[in-house]
Amino acid sequence: MRIVRTVSEVRAAVTGARSGGGIVGLVPTMGALHDGHLSLIRAARAENDLVVMSLFVNPTQFGPNEDLAAYPRDEARDAELAEGAGADILFAPPVAEVYPHGFSTSIHISGITEVLDGAHRGAEHFDGVATVVTKLFHMVAPDAAYFGQKDAQQVLVIRRLVRDLDVPVRIIACPIVREPDGLAMSSRNVYLDPEARERATALNRALDAAEAAVAAGERSAGAVIDAARTVLVAADIDPEYLELRSPDDLRELDRVDGEALLAVAARVGAARLIDNRILEATP
Ligand code: AMP
Repeated sequence: MRIVRTVSEVRAAVTGARSGGGIVGLVPTMGALHDGHLSLIRAARAENDLVVMSLFVNPTQFGPNEDLAAYPRDEARDAELAEGAGADILFAPPVAEVYPHGFSTSIHISGITEVLDGAHRGAEHFDGVATVVTKLFHMVAPDAAYFGQKDAQQVLVIRRLVRDLDVPVRIIACPIVREPDGLAMSSRNVYLDPEARERATALNRALDAAEAAVAAGERSAGAVIDAARTVLVAADIDPEYLELRSPDDLRELDRVDGEALLAVAARVGAARLIDNRILEATP
């Protein structure tokens, strides 16, 4: 695996692979890698000739009161894990390579960015995500890019921007990877002390409870959400949001018919965690 830091170096590597007829997969990350990230690299490895993992803690997607300064960073460890999972190129640009002096462009997607994390973290969050991902697509020009369903709204935002801006890349969404006790893996789980780490398992258990309610025949959104909320309350968690929305366009649902996205965000101890589940009502 090679570590490169400039757009011209990553382009040269991709052009080299392309000239031999190779196809290129991109895995965008902010580092602090865990098995969730590695599952994306492995998926990319299985389907591409060249696998590029980007490592960039994107300042523009953090709000002023968020954890940009504290965000865990360990490039040497990340490089070792990325190589082990099959990455060929680690693209780790400095901030000035991505945002040169005078940078003044932003990609804004309306509608689907205005709910859930967009409503709670502020519109700037998804502007930052959309802008950096668009830039990565132009820098690397991958055939396919791999994202985690853990960030379900982010996947929808990226699919929308790719469609709206005619970006020639296939978006692959990979399943949520969880700890043995069900907690969704996240770089932010390191902020949890032992007591909060234990309580954090309630997020996945709340999604389980909602899924069980649907399996038992419940179709009312209010009742399904209440089943999940009861589990959170028992763990002393007051969610930032706990909402049932269409997995296609995030419109709010009042019934589960077909597929529904149940999405949750909550502060647990020192971490802000998100999780989600696609609930399926079989007729
Ligand atoms: P991040 O470094 O947090 O920006 O995440 C990089 C990519 O890894 C994003 O596409 C995330 O959705 C994905 N990811 C993060 N956690 C998980 C997880 N537990 N399972 C699957 N994918 C994940």
